[in-house]
Amino acid sequence: MRWEELTGNQFSKATQEAEGVCLLPLSVIERHGHHLPLGTDMYIGRELCDRAAALESAVVFPDFIFTQILEARHLPGTIGIEPELIIKLLENTCREIARNGLKKIVIVNAHGGNNSLIQYFTQIQLASPRDYVVYVADYSLGESTEPAPWETSVDGHAGEVETSAIMAIRPDLVHTDMLPTDGEGMPLERLKVLRDLGTGLGIWWYADHPTHYRGDGIPATAEKGEYFFTARAKTLANAVRAIKDDQEAARLQDEFFGKINSFDK
Ligand SMILES: [Zn+2]
Repeated sequence: MRWEELTGNQFSKATQEAEGVCLLPLSVIERHGHHLPLGTDMYIGRELCDRAAALESAVVFPDFIFTQILEARHLPGTIGIEPELIIKLLENTCREIARNGLKKIVIVNAHGGNNSLIQYFTQIQLASPRDYVVYVADYSLGESTEPAPWETSVDGHAGEVETSAIMAIRPDLVHTDMLPTDGEGMPLERLKVLRDLGTGLGIWWYADHPTHYRGDGIPATAEKGEYFFTARAKTLANAVRAIKDDQEAARLQDEFFGKINSFDK
């Protein structure tokens, strides 16, 4: 059930049917090589949530595109929101979702540049008491019974996986004639010495992939994209089922907040 498609009258019944679970797809607007749309992650996150909700009922929040992408601000079309505002907006959005009766909020992230942000966001859930729980679903865990079809070993941005995914759902937006054949998607390794020693820094993605292309989209097919969505949606639906059954996370949160101002209890 997509939040924006429900009428106001239908909403409370939908929250019951979803057993209080809201899927919150996080994505971003950024360059995806020469051949994929700026909204690639948005389309992928939305499709995953819709397919998972069809398997295991949940309310799907509208696309949340205002996330972490400062590393693409040198490229046209990027929407790079201020760091503090992202956290505030996400926190405020979760509060509003919960106020509407959906107390189990499941972040479904479709943009790799959000991984650290989400990890931090889950940690700051303990900053103040709340009547809802934020879960993060790693839908990449688990595989379908069929072997994975991927042919490339370097991937991660507009490569075989994302190109296949968009081919499966929006083939009209894939410009295969623009796919580079000169290895543009391979990392430039301009900070290899530091990276090999485990040293991290903010400019690393720009150092490796200044055109925001990592991988090779040439072997992509719509069939592979279909595999991707089927396998990942199934994993996500299984997580939603487990989250519906979970009573322990909220109980522990309440117990924790009950103790923070009275250590002797
Ligand atoms: Zn992407």
